[in-house]
Amino acid sequence: MWEAVLGELQLQVPKPSYETWLRGTKGVSVSDGALVILTPNAFVSEMLDTRMYSLISRCLESITGNPMEIRFEVGGESRRPDRLFNPIKQTGDAGTSPLSPDEYRAASSQPQSRPSFRHLELNERYRFDNFIVGSSNNLAHAASVAVSENPGFVYNPLVIYSGVGLGKTHLMHAIGHEVRESGHDVLYTTTEEFTNEYIRSIREGTTEEFRDRYRSTNVLLLDDIQFIIGKEQTQEGFFHTFNALHMAGKQIVITCDRPVSELSLLQDRVSSRLAGGLVVDIQIPDLETRMAILRSKAEQLDWRFPDKVLEFIAGRVQRNVRELEGCLNIVAAHAGLGKQSLNGASDADIDLGLVEQALEDSLKESARRVSEEDVLGAVARYFSIDKSTLKGKKRDRPTAQARHVSMYLLREEVQLPLATIGRVMGGRDHTTVIHACRRIERQLEADTRLRRDLMNIRESFAA
Ligand code: ADP
Ligand code: MG
Repeated sequence: MWEAVLGELQLQVPKPSYETWLRGTKGVSVSDGALVILTPNAFVSEMLDTRMYSLISRCLESITGNPMEIRFEVGGESRRPDRLFNPIKQTGDAGTSPLSPDEYRAASSQPQSRPSFRHLELNERYRFDNFIVGSSNNLAHAASVAVSENPGFVYNPLVIYSGVGLGKTHLMHAIGHEVRESGHDVLYTTTEEFTNEYIRSIREGTTEEFRDRYRSTNVLLLDDIQFIIGKEQTQEGFFHTFNALHMAGKQIVITCDRPVSELSLLQDRVSSRLAGGLVVDIQIPDLETRMAILRSKAEQLDWRFPDKVLEFIAGRVQRNVRELEGCLNIVAAHAGLGKQSLNGASDADIDLGLVEQALEDSLKESARRVSEEDVLGAVARYFSIDKSTLKGKKRDRPTAQARHVSMYLLREEVQLPLATIGRVMGGRDHTTVIHACRRIERQLEADTRLRRDLMNIRESFAA
């Protein structure tokens, strides 16, 4: 499992960091539901624990399908640093909002020795030229390219949203590389880091520095803004930073893992700021795009997987590109397929049964086929309509729309034949089903609200 995580991390962190912090680690056991990782020394443990934990845990989750705690231990001995409790020094500058529990924890758990500000790097591998464009992400891609060509002028802020693992961070870094190469100052940070820095600056009385640092950049890239939900004080810090940059015509790019309109716990003034720019989404990629992504990833790794294997993976993993990549790594690692043997392998050499076996665990979650009932239940819940009404004869607009959405999803997600969909939907003709699907497809091109509805419904299948 840890090998697979390392494979994935190798793709995600700059090579020097990987070599320094991750190469010498070893997965040894699972105890008390936590994955225990051995590290060469306490410093590495501390680094991984304080600075890379969330990245590592996300990789692990994408591979196992379940969240799991990770414990770093030195040479087999358990070592949990006792965190000092540091009461937070409130300064006049801190604003009036109370600290949320998360903010409080962030403020009291930073080791004192940490430098005030750290610099987050852009991932070298996240570039426009290796971003595969398909109908699910072409809007977000086009907007990102436009912004990178003309930072501060076209869409400001640019907000990109989608479910996890669909390419937001990739696009954001691609913008960063482009504008940096054309001579702009770029500051990339995660909202988590932004929060930590802000809170720390309050504690240490360095809010001036904090402000200067953020306000002196040409382009601010802020990843995963949903992280500031419920953190009132950080929202204030963000609001002021945002305004200062925006008024000075500096470009701001933000990503979010849910629609801005649904960040209901954001202060109104913050969410209206976000909605004031261009908000674009990335949808779940279609089969063709998934195949193109897999081919491109395999190529980058200099691996030649037989098409049969790629098709198998693309068919089973639908809603998360990161997971697609994870599967490539798993197949290679688990089947003991070193580069050599893979490159020499022909279709005949690859045992699909073996591949399936290798992926079984990680696919437990995502491979669960969406059923007819999942779709109808989710649509009914989302639009607050009875399932029987969905299948019935009522023809008012909201009901008809929900019915069309059901048919569309039954085709896209459950891959039912048209005639079957007609039958399921209360004995309708297959041409009715075709019309409904076409209609939704047409609407999806322009109707962002419908795109959002579909995204939410798809996400609720899993629930
Ligand atoms: P998010 O930020 O939306 O959670 P990421 O940007 O981290 O997702 O993407 C997850 C992984 O999938 C990354 O390794 C990224 O390179 C890859 N990826 C996502 N979309 C694409 C795409 N269209 N083409 C190539 N790689 C992609
Ligand atoms: Mg991301």
